[in-house]
Amino acid sequence: MAKVVINNISKSYDGKTKVLDALDLEIESGEMFFLLGPSGCGKSTLLRILAGLVTQDSGSISFDGVDITNLPPEKRRAAMVFQNYALWPHLDVFENVAFGLRNANVKGSELKKRVMESLELVRLADCAKRKVPSLSGGQQQRIALARALAVEPYLLLLDEPLSNLDARLRDAMRNEISNICARRNQTALYVTHDRQEALSMADRLAVLKDGKIRQLGTPEELYNFPADRFCAEFLGDINIIPGKEKNGVFTTPLGNFAAVKRYDSDKCCGIIRPERIRFADSCGDGVFKATLVSKTFLGESCDYLAEANGVKFTIRESAPRSRTLGSEVMLKFDDGFFQIVPERD
Ligand code: ADP
Repeated sequence: MAKVVINNISKSYDGKTKVLDALDLEIESGEMFFLLGPSGCGKSTLLRILAGLVTQDSGSISFDGVDITNLPPEKRRAAMVFQNYALWPHLDVFENVAFGLRNANVKGSELKKRVMESLELVRLADCAKRKVPSLSGGQQQRIALARALAVEPYLLLLDEPLSNLDARLRDAMRNEISNICARRNQTALYVTHDRQEALSMADRLAVLKDGKIRQLGTPEELYNFPADRFCAEFLGDINIIPGKEKNGVFTTPLGNFAAVKRYDSDKCCGIIRPERIRFADSCGDGVFKATLVSKTFLGESCDYLAEANGVKFTIRESAPRSRTLGSEVMLKFDDGFFQIVPERD
């Protein structure tokens, strides 16, 4: 499998707005890399450029050191799985999976072997003779995956492949795709706007906004240490605590915090995830008082809306205890999880 290097790729469809803006990205061999971002940020455009379906304005792409920038799609060994499956309804499952192999001139017993191996990989070998419309959405997506894997691509491209499936099936397919790609050491680029999909499946991920990468790292790094307010909000529920930095101290209505660097006070804020706020038993360093305003009981956890000195924020308590609304409580942020981040657009 291949290491993918994307170098300085830019793309504009109308000659004015840059959909991708000098994008650099390296995907390691065998890595499951996620591109996460809101609708319209350029995710599909990058996938299509890698597949050779859209031509970039500038920049280059290489697979394992070989420049493939000017190769036509069929010579790139980049296979795509689409959100809407893009299977041929008039062909049976076998012929759908065989399609790319026939194009690559694979024939006879070798063709049969490779198709059946791919179908076994997605546990649908017994459906080879079925027509596509007789299969469920989940089965159709597994056929689309088998078709992409059959050509043994250097790079597997997945464009929101689970968006059309219901929640239960989506969970099962997340595991299935992860396991298959790991077993084959498949280099894959997966785009989605679903943060849970990205956090649960990615080896590494990048947050894309307006055609630029905002942050790149492991799921834990991005979730716990977001680069800015946008990344913090995009990756999970977050409390925004207003404050001002002066001489290394960030002053907020909830108390003062050490600031490790200097910030432009008008363009930064404090952030803390709801599950990183704890109920404290007694006063102490970093403990502050708040009032519980409302609660949302979720079974395994409970979200409390709390207020302190005019600031409202959410506390997420796992294994929740019974607490009285309107009461005063003592709270503390987990050490190291309150951060000051820039408020870039
Ligand atoms: P995403 O996958 O993140 O939703 P896309 O790459 O599909 O984003 O689209 C990025 C921007 O480019 C959007 O504003 C979209 O309208 C525009 N766009 C995408 N494809 C085309 C096209 N073929 N022609 C013109 N504009 C396009």
